[in-house]
Amino acid sequence: MQSIYNLTKKELEEYFLKNGEKKFHADQLFSWLYQKKVKSFDSVTDIKKDFISVLKQDFEIKPLKLLKKESEKDVNKYLFLLDDNEAVESVLMRHDYGNSICISTQVGCNMGCAFCESGRRKKVRDLTVSEMVRQVLMVEEDLEEKITHIVIMGIGEPFDNYDNVIKFLQIMNDPKALAIGSRHMTVSTCGIIPKIKEFSDFPLQVNLAISLHAPREKLRSSLMKINKVYPLKDLIPVLKEYTKKTNRRLTFEYILLDKINDQESDAKDLVKLIKGMNAYVNLIPYNYNEKLKFNRSKPVQIMKFYDILKKNHIQVTIRREFGSNISAACGQLRSKKEEI
Ligand code: SF4
Repeated sequence: MQSIYNLTKKELEEYFLKNGEKKFHADQLFSWLYQKKVKSFDSVTDIKKDFISVLKQDFEIKPLKLLKKESEKDVNKYLFLLDDNEAVESVLMRHDYGNSICISTQVGCNMGCAFCESGRRKKVRDLTVSEMVRQVLMVEEDLEEKITHIVIMGIGEPFDNYDNVIKFLQIMNDPKALAIGSRHMTVSTCGIIPKIKEFSDFPLQVNLAISLHAPREKLRSSLMKINKVYPLKDLIPVLKEYTKKTNRRLTFEYILLDKINDQESDAKDLVKLIKGMNAYVNLIPYNYNEKLKFNRSKPVQIMKFYDILKKNHIQVTIRREFGSNISAACGQLRSKKEEI
């Protein structure tokens, strides 16, 4: 039986209409599910009893199962069990501006980025809409506070599960669901060009982040297999077109790897590559993983890199560190579970 959390409001309206009911019931049911967070259709009091039985035949309201939770001061990391015994991770970060959750979109990932634990373990399957929605609901419930921001940067390549990610964003943004503002949501892609073009037509003003990690073709191809399919020479013009068309600012994510992509020449090449774009760079100190061959850049090198960008008028931040002691790099909790 399928989860009720798979349906967008429009799909739920169509369902009610198809079954001879008024479509406003979709609004009512959304607020029961997402605002009052009921666990059974029997708790819904403004839809007639006969139709509650129909809903119960067609859908289930079932939470994910929490397998493991690790916590540090401002961060909780969750491992959830799915119905087919696979597991996914979500990370909650507390900021001064609100509670931000990073969710996964696939079990494993086929993109095979060299520095990533999830890429080491191939994609098993895409997550359903409800499996993404329920990551947020479960964490919100555990926190007993509202989630205010969503980043889609966990395990998986969101644009390799495009349709489900789009529905997820619509549900999160819906005023009768969690009503999370579109500018408070960010999707991060490794650079799947056809989907970036498609995303430029998506009406919600959701932020787009690009995992860049290298300013030259050869280096990027050695770190990210996707660059062999969609190289920088094609990606950058598409991103320029994207910012022009949508008027939205881009974020470039750049993980600093010791002596690989953190040299002054790399910073200068990065300036050349993105100068003049409506974008900012988020520098990310690498989380060491013993199974991968990379090391974290020295703090002095990180600052040198930062300064070069700054001096060249590139907007740049260094990502605040979260949970470096609690399997914080994406995919580490899931890997541990599989190894056990
Ligand atoms: S960094 Fe992202 S896209 Fe690359 S392998 Fe890891 S999860 Fe996949």
